[in-house]
Amino acid sequence: LPAAADRMSGEIFRIKDLSFHYLEHVSVLEGLAMELDTRPTAVIGQNGAGKTTLVKLLKGLLKPVSGSILFGNEDISERTVAQLAGSVGYVFQNPDDQIFKNRVMDEVMVGPLNIGMSREAAEKRAREALSMVGLLDAAEENPYDLDLSERKMVAIASVVAMDTQVLILDEPTIAQDARGRAVIGSIVRKLSDSGKFVLAILHDMDFVAEYFERVIVMAHGKVLADGPKESVFYEVDALAAAKLEQPHTAALCRKLGYEGAFMTVNDINDRKDGTGEQE
Ligand code: ADP
Repeated sequence: LPAAADRMSGEIFRIKDLSFHYLEHVSVLEGLAMELDTRPTAVIGQNGAGKTTLVKLLKGLLKPVSGSILFGNEDISERTVAQLAGSVGYVFQNPDDQIFKNRVMDEVMVGPLNIGMSREAAEKRAREALSMVGLLDAAEENPYDLDLSERKMVAIASVVAMDTQVLILDEPTIAQDARGRAVIGSIVRKLSDSGKFVLAILHDMDFVAEYFERVIVMAHGKVLADGPKESVFYEVDALAAAKLEQPHTAALCRKLGYEGAFMTVNDINDRKDGTGEQE
């Protein structure tokens, strides 16, 4: 895995002493500090933990009350969404907050056109992105004739088409079946392998275990655990404090005595087959 070593280095965001509240006196994030590098990173935690608030700050949708966010060497805490559009892509939890065109192809072209691409280049990007999510055949359809899982895929394609350095996904696996989860997982892998930073909010712990490297556990606006999944998924006390369960694979590895050598479902299947190949 040569890509993994390269990926370790590049720092993307440096968050310093970040605080935020929506209403006076009700603090949502307080004094948060973290560095995010290009490892695919999952933020997990109960509803209300502050996960969405954090990623909205990274996207410029909210402004910090205090503290700073460095993106590369630049302080972006006062930047607008428009200024960050070419660098930070964000897929909303609910695709209906994002989709507004009545033709799938037009929807996926909006982002690329907004960041200044020609129609031809935008269409090419849109086709590639739709094919990644398996919806190229739906290019001429009205997004509202598609079901929720497909609309979510359109929303993901719209952001992937912009080819930003950062891709933020808010609960990407909601409404997805096993096939949809695999499609999204392969996008996470593909983008990470090409040096992009994927940051996702997730409740789907088995999906985190399968496709992410770093896990950040949040509760009440604070970070309870942060590190490689191989260690965080065994921090039983932090998971319990955040009211989260270990993913099934971590629980299974623990039972089998593989603790500290975390295995994903695919690893376990490979070991069973003895071939390392699927089918
Ligand atoms: P999570 O994504 O972990 O569920 P959020 O960042 O959405 O958490 O919410 C963190 C806290 O901020 C919660 O207490 C929530 O009620 C509050 N909150 C979120 N959005 C708003 C808003 N627009 N106005 C007021 N309070 C909000």
